[in-house]
Amino acid sequence: MSQLTTRRAFLSARILREDTHVVRPPGAVESGFHDLCTACGDCVSACPEGILAIDNDGIPIARLDAGACTFCGDCARSCEADALDIERLPDWPWRAMIEGASCLSMTGVSCRLCQDTCDQGAIRFKLQLGGRAKPELDIDSCTGCGACASACPVGAVSFERPFNPQPEVIQ
Ligand code: SF4
Ligand code: SF4
Ligand code: SF4
Repeated sequence: MSQLTTRRAFLSARILREDTHVVRPPGAVESGFHDLCTACGDCVSACPEGILAIDNDGIPIARLDAGACTFCGDCARSCEADALDIERLPDWPWRAMIEGASCLSMTGVSCRLCQDTCDQGAIRFKLQLGGRAKPELDIDSCTGCGACASACPVGAVSFERPFNPQPEVIQ
């Protein structure tokens, strides 16, 4: 493998790790976010919902368990480094996923907090034997806002990228 090919493979692997498994602020460029972001923290300060934080590298992450994103775009507008792009806001790739094993309702405890907070009506409950109810999420209605995750008392809601957009290939 040539040195250039090795470097491309390394960069591709790094982008995959950084940009497809970490929830960056809305509008984050798909490729090279880590390189463009100057770790200035402007987006974190700009978020009126207080859901942006800094990771161990000083790079912003979106804490969807800390509150709901309104997709207002203030974070993207505050970014002078072009790491966040307001045009990319509609492409938010994250959607909620409920971990049934952790959910209180699946143990027979009455809880509908996630459903109650979802403005999209994306969560319904299916009655099960033993007084349990299984939360079911309509992925097409979910906007990935995080309201349900911040309401869940046991952290049963996580986020995935169901449409699995692939990072751009570095040429
Ligand atoms: S879009 Fe608005 S609410 Fe969402 S993270 Fe950015 S500033 Fe915060
Ligand atoms: S808020 Fe959490 S524990 Fe309650 S029903 Fe929803 S996922 Fe289950
Ligand atoms: S992330 Fe938002 S839209 Fe999706 S299920 Fe949770 S509250 Fe509803």
